[in-house]
Amino acid sequence: MLVVGAGLAGLRTATLLAERGHHVLLAERRPALSGAVRTTGIFVRRTLEDFPLPEECLGPPIRRVVLYPPGLRRPVVLDSDRDEFRVGDMAPLYAATARAAQRAGVRLLLGRRYAGRRDDGASVLDGRDGPSAVRARYVVGADGARSGVARDLGLDRNRHLLVGAEEVFRVPPGAGPPTFHCVVDPSLAPGYLAWVVDDGRHAHVGVAGYGKRFPGGLRRSLDRFAAAPPGLERVVRPADVERRGGPIPVGGLLRRIASPDGLLVGDAAGAVSPLTAGGLDPCLRLSGHAADVLDDALHHGPAALARYDGATLRARFRGRLALRHGLAQVRTPALASAAFSVLRTPPGRAAARRVLFGDGSFPDP
Ligand SMILES: Cc1cc2nc3c(=O)[nH]c(=O)nc-3n(C[C@H](O)[C@H](O)[C@H](O)COP(=O)(O)OP(=O)(O)OC[C@H]3O[C@@H](n4cnc5c(N)ncnc54)[C@H](O)[C@@H]3O)c2cc1C
Repeated sequence: MLVVGAGLAGLRTATLLAERGHHVLLAERRPALSGAVRTTGIFVRRTLEDFPLPEECLGPPIRRVVLYPPGLRRPVVLDSDRDEFRVGDMAPLYAATARAAQRAGVRLLLGRRYAGRRDDGASVLDGRDGPSAVRARYVVGADGARSGVARDLGLDRNRHLLVGAEEVFRVPPGAGPPTFHCVVDPSLAPGYLAWVVDDGRHAHVGVAGYGKRFPGGLRRSLDRFAAAPPGLERVVRPADVERRGGPIPVGGLLRRIASPDGLLVGDAAGAVSPLTAGGLDPCLRLSGHAADVLDDALHHGPAALARYDGATLRARFRGRLALRHGLAQVRTPALASAAFSVLRTPPGRAAARRVLFGDGSFPDP
């Protein structure tokens, strides 16, 4: 097996396959997994319950979400009686996950970029020592939102993308509880949110939205938001901050995600909640299904791959896709402020709680 991309989707798929005795090569273009992290790393309760993430790589639990309209006045505060979110310390978390993969038998090649597929079916990996060809029975595209493996296997590709960027820095503990602040303001984050996650150890200050709709560009929106982020009044922003960012596919799970030569997982498959733009839970769950199907295919032949069907799973995203469409239509601050008058009513608060604290997650195949 060749797995391309050592994000959480690739690491998990590779590990599960190696644990079943298959030979797995995991190729990652980054020279170190601690560099160029893209995600905020918020894990939701369902993921924390179902997957054994290393405890020492998780921040304190967050139970409070504060939703702000444009102008930040009269925010809506939602408290849960359960631990809802924890932010992963992603560099050590990737490192720990990679060590577990290697212990399971995965051969991890860092600094090796998948550069395409030859006519004879071999995959080309490019690194410091030049290109080399790898023959694998199946190729797994875990290479993110703009997957080259999807292109080469003739599978569907993500077309509906947000772009996000954030700054991360250490903070002293606050007086209040760890909090996730979300600002709905299309002039700042068109079609999505601006956020501050403050768990009393680190702050993540970010914006995401439709790339073409940022007035003045993504970077300028982030600078504007980071100049006075809500909830961080106690903190002086350090000069040296970690910067993260990247595309987020929000068009829902892609329909064609398997061919007789391989399949897609994680962002490459569009496995991200169209509404919340959370992709960590979906990528872990879909990877489990991918490993089951590939194990079957390795024992019984490629017909097993027909079971890996994005179209069927996608049908269960209908509600979230409709809500994504609704959020995309909130194009002016006035409309966002009007939506808050609904959000402040008991049914509005109940709906927000269902989205933020509900039990929904990526559907089990
Ligand atoms: C700014 C931002 C914040 C986010 N915050 C959250 C959050 O808080 N919670 C949440 O649930 N989701 C969040 N998401 C979404 C989430 O991060 C992704 O859905 C998830 O990380 C997808 O994992 P993945 O393994 O599929 O892809 P990735 O983590 O993108 O991994 C893909 C890997 O493939 C490698 N790669 C790409 N091309 C090649 C190639 N040609 N050859 C070799 N290697 C290659 C890349 O270097 C990368 O390591 C966020 C996304 C962004 C952009």
